Amino acid sequence: MTAFGGVENRILIASARNVREIFGIEVRISSVPFPPKLGFNPQRRQFHAGTLLEYLSRFDFPDLIKLVAVVGFDLYEEGLNFVFGEAQLGGKNAVVSIHRLRDPDERLTFERTFKEVNHELGHTFGLTHCPDPTCVMSFSNSLTEVDRKGRDFCDGCRAKLSANLPLQA
Ligand SMILES: [Zn+2]
Ligand SMILES: [Zn+2]
Repeated sequence: MTAFGGVENRILIASARNVREIFGIEVRISSVPFPPKLGFNPQRRQFHAGTLLEYLSRFDFPDLIKLVAVVGFDLYEEGLNFVFGEAQLGGKNAVVSIHRLRDPDERLTFERTFKEVNHELGHTFGLTHCPDPTCVMSFSNSLTEVDRKGRDFCDGCRAKLSANLPLQA
């Protein structure tokens, strides 16, 4: 995992611990150099998620199976006002923005971040959206939907995930 643009270290560290718990895989905090205006759209004053993903895919850390960037600025994708995150389905890279997830209650900020990290990471392990609104793979387009779901996978998604997770020694 790595972070760009005003993400507190404790959010990154807690998110890494969360991934370890939910996915049962080793997580490392890496430092990836970030060009400050990469993907920035001055008209929208937002960053283009696809550009960030493309940038991440240039970093081929041989021992990393996935790379998740947590960013502090707002993300968009063509045709959408904003996105909480984006991932390469069945691929290696994911990006999550905490910009719209922040709450004065920091525990809520953390919990929302965990859900979106697990959701985007789920996509990189080949999972698509789930109709169960409490499953972390359910699609969220609002904070209400983020807050309604849990940070873990439903039984069906968990089974698909397990089939795609690397075997841990
Ligand atoms: Zn999704
Ligand atoms: Zn599910």
